[in-house]
Amino acid sequence: MRRPMVMGNWKMYLDGATAEALAREIVEGLKGRQVGVDVAVCPPYVYLDRLSGIVKGSPVVLGAQNGHFAEKGAFTGEISMDMLVDVGCDCVIIGHSERRHYAGEPDSEIRKKITAGLNKRLCVTLCVGETEPQRDKGVTRDVIEGQLEGALSGFASEDIERLVLAYEPVWAIGTGKTATPEQAQEVHDFIRGWIASAFGLDFAQRLRILYGGSVKLENMRLLIEKPDIDGALVGGASLKSDSFLGIICQAAKGGN
Ligand code: PEP
Repeated sequence: MRRPMVMGNWKMYLDGATAEALAREIVEGLKGRQVGVDVAVCPPYVYLDRLSGIVKGSPVVLGAQNGHFAEKGAFTGEISMDMLVDVGCDCVIIGHSERRHYAGEPDSEIRKKITAGLNKRLCVTLCVGETEPQRDKGVTRDVIEGQLEGALSGFASEDIERLVLAYEPVWAIGTGKTATPEQAQEVHDFIRGWIASAFGLDFAQRLRILYGGSVKLENMRLLIEKPDIDGALVGGASLKSDSFLGIICQAAKGGN
């Protein structure tokens, strides 16, 4: 059985005081409860340090929205994986579609970032997903396969034990258009099949695959019922404690 996971991606939202208040509300909301779900929040870099004290000792872990592949160097504006560990991060999101799109991150760079994150014992959440024109052209599987191959080929299964995948159809991110549970399940099943052929069935059965794309309290219940959906990467709905806590509760009910 895979333990469900819910990650909140706060993107470039919230000021410092609001980020602190939100983290406190989430920690308070989970206090004294055996939720049975791994919970992570990924605030903007500049708030990681101050939030690490708030989540310490709670079931909530801290994640970053990105990290650089180099250990150190002349990379103005970048943050290394060591620095993320230093400020209390347990996980890092790599290959989010917004970074693939706005920062032009190719699979080759994503692969290096995965290696760097895993080497520092971070839990790495790799995002994959197709755009709307790609879905309309019927090439969703080819796109996902290309992203998986580009990012993961050459790894051995024992190297990627701390990997989590997130299927995030680009057309569903921040648009209010969620993939139906059936559409999401179809791609999750495809991803698990690809992972099984690349890394073996046992590993594929252990690997968590999250869904992301306009997840809300209202659609989480049906998504999490699907056999290959193991949780969610949540953007907009993670910015309010009541909706984020509600999504966590739904995830707890639907563990696969
Ligand atoms: C995301 O940021 O990864 C995301 C899925 O955002 P939203 O839930 O707002 O669509």
